[in-house]
Amino acid sequence: MSRFDGRVAIVTGAASGIGKEIALRLAAEGGIPVIADLNLDAANKTAAEIKAKGGDAFAVAMNVTDEAEVEKGVADTIAKYGKIDILVSNAGIQIVKPIVDFPFADWKKLLSIHLDGAFLTTKACLKHMYKAKYGRVVYMGSVHSKEASKLKAPYVTAKHGLIGLSKVLAKEGAEFNVSSNVVCPGFVRTPLVEKQIPEQAAELKISEADVIKNVMLKDTIDGQFTTTDDVADAVLFYAAARNTVHSGQSAVVSHGWFMQ
Ligand code: NAD
Repeated sequence: MSRFDGRVAIVTGAASGIGKEIALRLAAEGGIPVIADLNLDAANKTAAEIKAKGGDAFAVAMNVTDEAEVEKGVADTIAKYGKIDILVSNAGIQIVKPIVDFPFADWKKLLSIHLDGAFLTTKACLKHMYKAKYGRVVYMGSVHSKEASKLKAPYVTAKHGLIGLSKVLAKEGAEFNVSSNVVCPGFVRTPLVEKQIPEQAAELKISEADVIKNVMLKDTIDGQFTTTDDVADAVLFYAAARNTVHSGQSAVVSHGWFMQ
């Protein structure tokens, strides 16, 4: 018997990076990840990888900012499996620029993916979780849910905001055995971070090596990147919780970059 036997888990942004690792790890422990991503081809590849290892997975095309697409992805999941036990709201992007130059359109785009996406997927899944009296919701926050960095105004704003949403859900969901928590990683070398290294080097007029050493990992206790596995460990901990003792909480996974 594995921790997630038969548990159906919608994981947004699971075609790449951290979300993909979470999907693979859930499947390895008997869960059925629903790979919900903007990029359906890559989502299908992740699902195929899981099936090749003998697991089950379901890829759905979903732009998390589009209410109709979110509702459809959730409805298709219910039609196929009859329930949603776990939501990992993980899809996200990064755009770096100083506030003074930040295009308003980019500010709105980033907030929409992180915050509207979390709200819409939560709302759509909750109806089913409340009916079943079971749900484990995990939001992908960041050290930037607690701390700020230059060039990241909408990202820091959105990641702080997710903590608020999660705390409200912890209160509203408790009577339905629905818990809500936030996992807050430090820097992880996914495509989202690889793209940022040259962008930050250009904005800050320093080398890429300096971005890694003196910006990204400067305040860690050991100069180490966090890994997708490290983040998945924390997500799976909250997703597997047997009751709502862990709810309204946040866990920082960052080699001590931020200490709470
Ligand atoms: P990634 O770029 O590897 O993966 C992000 C995935 O989200 C992609 O598959 C992409 O197609 C999908 N996506 C983007 N916009 C979407 C939308 N509108 N609807 C549905 N899917 C969409 O990035 P990652 O590093 O794995 O990031 C995942 C999450 O982890 C993000 O919320 C990010 O903010 C957070 N995070 C990342 C780091 C890091 O260092 N990589 C640190 C802290 C938090």
